[in-house]
Order: sequence, then C-alpha cells, then structure tokens
Amino acid sequence: MTYLSTRGQSPVVDAQSALRAGAAPDGGLYLPLSLPEFSPKDFDDTPELPRLAARLLAPFFAGTDLADPLPQICGSAFNFPVPRVQLGETGPQVLELFHGPTGAFKDFGARFLFRCFDAIARTDDPITVLAATSGDTGGAVGCAAEGSRQAGAVILFPKGRISPFQEHQLCCWNDPVRALRVDGDFDACQVLVKAAFADRDLSARHGLTSANSISIGRLLPQMSYWAHASLEIWRETGETPGLIIPTGNLGNAFAAVLARDCGLPIGPIHLATNANATLSDWHITGRYAARPSIATLANAMDVGAPSNFERLNLHDPEAIHRVHRVEDHDIQTRIRQTFEDEGYIACPHTATALEAYHRLPDAQREARPWLVGATADPYKFAETVEAVIGETPPLPPALAEVKQRPARVSDIPADLDALAEALNLQPA
Ligand SMILES: *Cc1c(COP(=O)(O)O)cnc(C)c1O
Repeated sequence: MTYLSTRGQSPVVDAQSALRAGAAPDGGLYLPLSLPEFSPKDFDDTPELPRLAARLLAPFFAGTDLADPLPQICGSAFNFPVPRVQLGETGPQVLELFHGPTGAFKDFGARFLFRCFDAIARTDDPITVLAATSGDTGGAVGCAAEGSRQAGAVILFPKGRISPFQEHQLCCWNDPVRALRVDGDFDACQVLVKAAFADRDLSARHGLTSANSISIGRLLPQMSYWAHASLEIWRETGETPGLIIPTGNLGNAFAAVLARDCGLPIGPIHLATNANATLSDWHITGRYAARPSIATLANAMDVGAPSNFERLNLHDPEAIHRVHRVEDHDIQTRIRQTFEDEGYIACPHTATALEAYHRLPDAQREARPWLVGATADPYKFAETVEAVIGETPPLPPALAEVKQRPARVSDIPADLDALAEALNLQPA
C-alpha cells in the first residue's frame, strides 16, 4: 500500500515512512492511494477487536517492517473493553470508546501509534515524539509512550492554562516520557514545537516526530472499532447501522468513512459538532472556510480548522450524510435529559451526538439501528456534568489509578534553546 500527500507535491511513500514523517514534506496529509476490499465474511473468524483490527489493517502496512508485528501491536494497543450500551428500548446504542487508561478515545490512536514507533525505532535511528497539548491527546500519548523501549515522548503544555487534573495527566508518566511546563500560552508551545521541527540538526539528532491527529498511525487504527461494532450489529440484525460521531478534527469520523469504503457494513455517517460552525457551514453551503475556534463545553472538539478536512475533501466530500451543530445550551439539556430518561451519564462530547440523534426525523431514526460514539468518560468533565445533573459521575478505576501516580515536570521558558537543552537531557 502506498500513500500520497493530499497536496500531491511529495513522492508517494509506504506506511512506515508516512508514519515516521507525520505530515508530508509538502505540508499535506498522507492518504492511502487505494483501499482494500473486504466483505463481512472476511471477519467471521475474528470476533474480537484486536484480531479484527489486525486483519483489517494488514493491507495498509503490507510490505513494511510493521507487517509482522501488527497482530501484537493490535493485541497490546486494544486491550480494553469497548462496550455497546443500549439506551432505552428504542433508543440508539452508545459505543463507549473511553475505557482505555486515560478515559478518552484518544487512547486507541495513541497506543497504536506508539507501539508502531517502538517497533520501527533503532538505537541509531531514534524517535522522539514532541507534542504540544492542552487536553486529552497529551495524556494519551504520555500513557502510550510509558515503558516504550525505543521511542520517547516530550510533552509541552502552557503553564497555568489547563486544569489541575489535565496537568496531572500529562505529568504522571514514567520514562521515556517527559513533561515540560512552558512559561507561555498554548500558541507559544506550538510555535516552540514548530521551531524544533524546523531545526534540522536538533530534529535529526532526536528523530523528532509528531503524534497529532494527522498521523496515519492514529487515523487508521480508529477504523477498527467502527468496523467491529458495525459487524456485530449487522450480524445481529442484518442491517447496516448509521453512525453519529462527535467531531473536532475529523479523525474519528474519517476513519469511519474509510472503514465503510473498505466494505464494512456501515450505513450513513453523521457528524455532531459543538458550536464551532466550520463543518456545518461547509455542509450546508458547499464552501469550506476555516475560522478561529471558539470555547465550548465539549472542549476537545473546539476546532475551527479541522485538520482531516483535507483528507475528506480529496477522498470523498459526499461521504458525510449530515453535520449537526449543537450549542452549549443543548449539550446541557441533552446531558440532563439522558440522565433523567435513561439514567445514563454522558460527557459533553457524547451529548452532542446524542442530541444529533434526537434531531433526526422519526422515519430516519426508525429505519435502521444507530450507533452513537461516546468519546470521553464523563468523570473527565465532572464539573460540567455535575452542574447539570446534580451529582458527580463515578470515578472509573483507570482514572483513579492515574490520580494516584506521582507527577514530575520541568519548567522551561518559551524559547528554543531551553527546549533543545531539555531534549538533550532526554534518556536515549
Ligand atoms: C479528540 C476528541 C474528539 C474529536 O475527535 P476528532 O477525531 O478530532 O474529530 C471528541 N471527543 C473527545 C473526548 C476527544 O478527545
């Protein structure tokens, strides 16, 4: 399988090079040049998610050093449950993607990506993931990198601008993970990371790479759970489920599009966004205009320029059935309603998708089973949820474990020399 840049100005590469590079040299995103063709029968003997993932992903990594270790990578990356929860007798099924060690669906992509890095890094060809983060991604990356033998991670975050729990979740991981608290805002962190990548010497010495949502190593594994859940529903009912996916950078939803185009039994794909209107406006007008992001209760989806749009647009802009924009007020109402009606506690992101489900015309809702993506454990957004339902969501065991860990962090000023010095201290 070869991968082409969305901007078409870079050579085609294999999966291993695409994974190593993150973005293409022309600034585009790597996209598979063709897709494998599966039929549901091909997965009859892979009922568990890790084995299904290994089969589905095999063609994407064929011919590279990742082909052999792929089954082990899937087995150790996807070692947590992904339950489907039926809401009410006629309601949707919720696909809970948040039972990984950091309580958000980012664990799927981050764990897979890091295990790939660990499999391809060499002592004379190191890999260091450098990530500026304000939220879920950094925690998932840190956790995924802990204990990895060949690939390290350095996580930058802005001092005093993230919640105490978020900060703890960035600073509690052991070697080879390091957290750097930057004296500056989030933009300053991103500028620093870009400057480090642009410094050829520094970048080559540490094998710097990114772990953001444009990496195919995060995108592709996200096909697996949509494939798995849809196959189960298809076997149970003979119908293809519609998906409703809480969306920010469009990684999760674009992975579902790819899974459907590989032959998985998936029906219409709907996006749910928060008040950020870039995607809903695009879907109505056909014109795409990125805009500054605005802050909402579903803050992991506060995105004004969804990075995977470039992929979707080139691959098939018609793949998305509808985009539902859900304002904060409706997020709160949906969290309350779901709790009152079903006793189910949804995080604000999940609530956007539940609200989108309830906005579907009756005939559409009744025409097929619906699968709603649940992307974060509600405990991670305890303040928002508690303000609406009057109680604190239960602390899940994985997050209790995170809270108990000791934290360690280094403070650095927002300049490249300081970052370079910190990188040099990085254990090889
Ligand atoms: C990242 C994230 C999303 C958005 O996923 P994309 O792939 O960026 O669309 C939704 N919910 C939560 C909790 C997230 O962390």
